Amino acid sequence: KQKRIAIYGKGGIGKSSTASNVAAACAEEGYKVMIIGCDPKSDSSITLLGGRRIPTILDLLRQGVKVKEEDIVFHGYRNVRCVEVGGPEPGIGCAGRGIIVAIKTLRDMCKEMDDMDLIIYDVPGDIVCGGFVAPIKKGLVNDAYVLTSGEYMPLYAANNICKGLSKIDTRLSGVICNSRSVTREEEIVSRFAEEIGSKLVAFIPKEQIVQDCERDGFSVLEKAPVSDIAQVYRDLARTIMSNADSSLPKSLEDERLRELTR
Ligand code: ATP
Ligand code: MG
Repeated sequence: KQKRIAIYGKGGIGKSSTASNVAAACAEEGYKVMIIGCDPKSDSSITLLGGRRIPTILDLLRQGVKVKEEDIVFHGYRNVRCVEVGGPEPGIGCAGRGIIVAIKTLRDMCKEMDDMDLIIYDVPGDIVCGGFVAPIKKGLVNDAYVLTSGEYMPLYAANNICKGLSKIDTRLSGVICNSRSVTREEEIVSRFAEEIGSKLVAFIPKEQIVQDCERDGFSVLEKAPVSDIAQVYRDLARTIMSNADSSLPKSLEDERLRELTR
């Protein structure tokens, strides 16, 4: 069965890094992988394309170009298919609607989309108008993950996301910790996961190498394949591909969140 995942979390917490490294790891395992960047920053696939930026679907549509598959689907590291949706014009337009229009355009011309083993939607951090629920509501995503560190603010955002997910009756497949080197961090995030009725599926350490590879335009898997963190991404990739558990998340009271991080 095709996995279509999204990783949610506070702005800047590491969603795009995690998404692109997991994409690379899955592709190395032989899976057919597509990454769809749904962020106006269009930075989801750069590290799979050696630092190259690709045109976004919404930009092309706005330019009135008659788009063809090869204008919007680019083949990156280990043949990961890279797509960038782009964003609405700043100040006008709705992110959610833009995503729907762009994905429809993609669907219409990319027949191999159905053959993918894994499609990763890389979403923006801030829960902007429509951008959060649109991919879920339209049935584009079937596995939702939340990414957080052990700090209060990212946990607060993660908790809010859980609130949003349960409101639209959507299950959570797991919590991923992207470490900020907080004390007792694994314990805090694993507690959080447990109390919302989910589980911690990975603990990704904070490593300078992630940023160094990114700056050079590569995933850790491509540029530092024997590093410990490359192995962490490989393990996460395996977990995601085999994960069949999910639960409707229960969000925590703010007081409990504060307690957890104390
Ligand atoms: P946004 O919400 O703006 O889309 P994001 O959640 O996608 O942000 P990223 O762009 O992936 O966040 O990461 C933010 C920064 O954190 C980047 O510079 C990235 O290299 C760095 N980073 C992510 N994960 C790690 C890690 N495990 N170790 C060290 N640095 C990391
Ligand atoms: Mg991002």
